[in-house]
Amino acid sequence: MAPSFKPVEPFDIVVFGGTGDLALRKLLPGLYHRDLDGQLEPQVRIFGAARGTLTREGYQKMVREALKQFVKEADLERAKVDAFIERLQFVRVDASGDAGWDDLRAALEEGTPNDIRVFYLAVGPGLFGTICKKLAEHDLRTPGTRIVIEKPLGTDFASAQAINDAVGEHFEEHQIFRIDHYLGKESVQNLVVLRFANRLFEPIWNATAIDHVQITVAEDLGAGERAGYYDQSGATRDMVQNHILQMLCLVAMEPPASLDADALRDEKLKVLRSLRPIVGDDVRSKTVRGQYRGGAIDGKPVPGYLEELNGHVSTTETFVVVKAEIENWRWNGVPFYLRTGKRLPSRHSEIVIQFKSVPHSIFGEATGGLTANRLVLRLQPNESVKLFMTIKDPGPGGLRLRDVPLNLSFAETFHIRYPDAYERLLMDVVRGNASLFMRKDEVAAAWRWIDPIRQGWEDFNMTPKLYAAGSWGPTDATALIARDGRNWYEDAI
Ligand code: NAP
Repeated sequence: MAPSFKPVEPFDIVVFGGTGDLALRKLLPGLYHRDLDGQLEPQVRIFGAARGTLTREGYQKMVREALKQFVKEADLERAKVDAFIERLQFVRVDASGDAGWDDLRAALEEGTPNDIRVFYLAVGPGLFGTICKKLAEHDLRTPGTRIVIEKPLGTDFASAQAINDAVGEHFEEHQIFRIDHYLGKESVQNLVVLRFANRLFEPIWNATAIDHVQITVAEDLGAGERAGYYDQSGATRDMVQNHILQMLCLVAMEPPASLDADALRDEKLKVLRSLRPIVGDDVRSKTVRGQYRGGAIDGKPVPGYLEELNGHVSTTETFVVVKAEIENWRWNGVPFYLRTGKRLPSRHSEIVIQFKSVPHSIFGEATGGLTANRLVLRLQPNESVKLFMTIKDPGPGGLRLRDVPLNLSFAETFHIRYPDAYERLLMDVVRGNASLFMRKDEVAAAWRWIDPIRQGWEDFNMTPKLYAAGSWGPTDATALIARDGRNWYEDAI
């Protein structure tokens, strides 16, 4: 049975950067899908804003093309697409200048404006503060206004604070939605449900039963044409500070008193503040930096990172491993191995909760031996949740044990479409539900943990180790976990 969706309150949304990649690939297709499922009331209006010279028709044509490219053909119902396109307007605004702001206000005030007004800043973070200031100066804020911003939220603690301060000068914290799209993924939310809606897991969700946790975000693509941009950030800032630490928080947090946004975020913050700082010699033993050189993916040769940078010398890491430890009762002695990189053998993200083995095995070698349980949450591709259990191999051929996954995925069982993370998050912004968005103190705490690691790399001159594109990173990454008598779950792919 297809799920039914309740419409959200009518809203106006202005997408700054409405002609950019994020808007055309994710935000507008996401809004289209919500429209298709009946969640957008007829009064909903969508405004694209950018500096380019475009007519309304020109913009509508651009978005129609984007839908063709980024929405599955089966979901492109002619009448629905036409109705969605009719919602679109375009306003030429230069976010860093004075041109266009009055036109934007006029467009928003025309007809019957909706009480809920969302400004989505799909532009570089350098413009966040300026846009907020202009919105205030040009009287574009209403009580129902929300502002949405996204990574990169700074490059370190100080720059993140500067962004938060600049936005916070004009908007209350409850109006600011800092998107981390990983939190909108179905399987990430399922993690919270699995933990807190089932009696089964919570009593063993601790150092007594869990051996370690692995969080991997692997990409097979390289930095490619965006290498110049990527070079300013690198794997740690791009992935670990935000997505990976947010996932770690959801795995590790104490049960919140409710799903209320602040109750949840208070618990996540406690985790971030309990992370053992990685400083001094620990930087050498608990982190690995890598950078891909040329290699092959799926048998096809691919260039190295420096070649993509046209030979420019760079010590930016395209791969990183961090062994994180949480200093509290629940997680004492349970490492969280965090790993992310570009040009790895496949594109997949997953969280592996590795349980301990049973204290004593009554099964002899001939049975095939025991494998400890593990819970694997696959975030992409094909979101899924699997609990690996040991069962008896069926049949009379003697007692043999087998490790099999118990599939806990709703979508695979019922063949429904998993909505893209942005779809849910956009609807949550409209609803004013900030549970899945980062509060400013979380962003600050994450940077406070990351900054000393980066400082340590500089102090020890720890330049990235090279790894061949198409491999699982430098051998140091294998050595780091092997020193603890463990290995990466590449076989779970
Ligand atoms: P993009 O493709 O370069 O698009 C940038 C958009 O901003 C364009 O519409 C551009 O149009 C507009 N713009 C630039 N300067 C402007 C100004 N002064 N006033 C008004 N509009 C302006 O970039 P993107 O990939 O969409 O990314 C946008 C932001 O989101 C970046 O900070 C990026 O890091 C972040 N982000 C992107 C993704 C993604 O999947 N793409 C994911 C997460 C985060 P005009 O040049 O015509 O003004």
